[in-house]
Amino acid sequence: MSIGQKNILGTGLISLLLIICLAISVQAQGKITTPAKKPLKVFISVDMEGIWGVVHGNQCSAESPEYQLARKWMVEDTNAVLSGLFEAGATEVVVNDSHGSMRNIIASELDPRASLISGSPKPLSMMEGIDSSFQACIFVGYHARAGSAPAILDHTISGAVIYSIKINGIEMPELGINGAIAGYHQVPVIMLTGDNETCRQAKEILGSDLLALPVKEAVGRFAARNFPREKVLADLKEGAKRALSSLEKFKPYQLKPPYQFEVNFHNSNQAESGLLVPGVKRMAPRTLSFSTQDYLEGFKLLRALISLASGS
Ligand SMILES: [Zn+2]
Repeated sequence: MSIGQKNILGTGLISLLLIICLAISVQAQGKITTPAKKPLKVFISVDMEGIWGVVHGNQCSAESPEYQLARKWMVEDTNAVLSGLFEAGATEVVVNDSHGSMRNIIASELDPRASLISGSPKPLSMMEGIDSSFQACIFVGYHARAGSAPAILDHTISGAVIYSIKINGIEMPELGINGAIAGYHQVPVIMLTGDNETCRQAKEILGSDLLALPVKEAVGRFAARNFPREKVLADLKEGAKRALSSLEKFKPYQLKPPYQFEVNFHNSNQAESGLLVPGVKRMAPRTLSFSTQDYLEGFKLLRALISLASGS
């Protein structure tokens, strides 16, 4: 190797080192200047009676052959909402299966970008998984409160034991009871889907800004006009996108303490079992009441009274 060759080689090596250093520094600068994506977390609670196509209890019960088709519609409605949310910039979506056994949504058929809370029992039931790290809450497939008509499969938590539930004097559907759990964590409910009567109750209780999207119009308790499927799926996607894009206009649903619960059962024996619980008073043969300073404590006591009544 000659001296000239060594010089050329030396200059070449220095140039190569300079290029590598430059590349590393550009890369490092790039890392520093790229802004971190702000988390936009959405919680979805999915019930079954308000899913498109569902008009009868047999479709919501695992024992019936009709159930398999209804759970397919359930995941389709949910996926349409999910695609709108991700298009609007959602960074994380948690879906909580909220009907019956809470094992209705087939996990592998859910949009793979979302996570799924499946199974029961869960301490917060239909609202398990929510906390103050979420920016928005959505109810999919919800139904009207017990005693509504015309409304598909109207009931409140348990059709077998509950006649009505009042909290601070308001006769509550599940959307109100659960909406207040979201509100407890400062999370606004931005969208709800179900039949037309459920949508009406949702706007009345959770506020007129709520995007309430009917997927069917109830004719009676077990009959409905289901809107055209393709349009429903497109509307669910578009609605979710629009609601999440205008997040600032929604306020959390918050009731004021003390929380006064009044639970009306179908039969007097269903009320009697709840009298074993300290702090629970009997207002009438079928009516129990109690008061709490903490909403979640009240919600859990409500669930306990329903469990006791179900076993009586
Ligand atoms: Zn249900």
